[in-house]
Amino acid sequence: MSDAIAAPATVKVSLGARSYDILIGPGLLQRAGAEIARRLPGVRAAIVTDANVAENHLATLQAGLSAAGIEAAAITVAPGERSKSFGTLEEVVSGILDARLERGDIVIPLGGGVVGDLAGFASGIVRRGMHFVQAPTSLLAQVDSSVGGKTGINTAHGKNLVGVFHQPQLVIADTAVLDTLSPREFRAGYAEVAKYGLIDRPDFFAWLEENWQAVFSGGVERVEAIAQSCRAKADVVARDELETGDRALLNLGHTFGHALEAATGYDSARLVHGEGVAIGMALAHRFSARLNLASPDDAGRVETHLAAVGLPTRLSDVPGDLPGAERLLTYIAQDKKVSRGALTFILTHGIGRSFVAKDVPTSQVLSFLEESLSQ
Ligand code: NAD
Repeated sequence: MSDAIAAPATVKVSLGARSYDILIGPGLLQRAGAEIARRLPGVRAAIVTDANVAENHLATLQAGLSAAGIEAAAITVAPGERSKSFGTLEEVVSGILDARLERGDIVIPLGGGVVGDLAGFASGIVRRGMHFVQAPTSLLAQVDSSVGGKTGINTAHGKNLVGVFHQPQLVIADTAVLDTLSPREFRAGYAEVAKYGLIDRPDFFAWLEENWQAVFSGGVERVEAIAQSCRAKADVVARDELETGDRALLNLGHTFGHALEAATGYDSARLVHGEGVAIGMALAHRFSARLNLASPDDAGRVETHLAAVGLPTRLSDVPGDLPGAERLLTYIAQDKKVSRGALTFILTHGIGRSFVAKDVPTSQVLSFLEESLSQ
């Protein structure tokens, strides 16, 4: 099988001495060992994964590493957001130290964004910073969380509050492993793919409207969509590695989305992150049209596409009761800085023309939410 694999797409993240490649293509886990040995000769490894991913893909990665003579320990954590905790971090750190890895050896997070954030953080602090190679296995992780070097865990105070910026040496995105992802998780990751088109790549959004079915079923279109998304994220990260400016545009749909996640108590049975982002992007476009910043036709196009792939687009699509507009506004205000009665939002002048709006009056947000709750 591995002989038949075409050369992977390569996207470079340009960060001077900390630059790295993202390799994207089907079957890459099998040859991960060879790709790593070429760049980091003589390393030993600790794979960190979760139980779901271990069942489906750990043996393939282990075989690939072993074929290249890379010795690897495996540390398996429980699946789910709860593993982004101090307790699980300690388990992972102990596992890496038990394997007697040195600073120049590598940690390989094999999994979705949870494992990537957790094990990436562990690699950033063990021995004051080890090398690491991301092996993302969810669509969200392949197009978003594995790129850019943000790592961390959650605390009782909130999500992602403890962590470090720590760039990997390499990202290996095997697009075939997405075949074992649940359709719901695939769709949720797709919301972030569409987001890159909506931010500043209108041609990419139009391409997705034509080709989304092929992206879902696999093949070259899937590789292309992931590569375009990684290019978009890599461009932003190269301009603003430590998130002091431009990187904010990546939050398109996230202000409304985070408020909905909080309002549903982070209950994944009701809403997962990407679904919140999909509703948030549809709302951001409708709100922009309502403020006469963009044409209602563009808002309609966004809603039609997201609904076509099976993503929610309206507040009424969230199962169960939502709080009223005032309460939703409180969640939005908690997520974003409020200054003198105004909020910061990512709004748009149309598809692919998003911008940071720093002065959105809370009164307008409130009446828009009231209207949206009744639709
Ligand atoms: P996740 O890691 O929980 O994965 C979702 C589910 O899919 C899990 O149950 C997992 O076990 C399963 N899974 C993953 N790959 C699979 C596969 N190939 N086959 C079968 N099952 C598979 O969640 P996620 O959506 O990948 O990531 C969400 C996390 O990413 C959040 O914690 C979020 O904060 C973080 N995140 C980080 C960044 C960043 O820049 N660091 C960006 C966005 C999101």
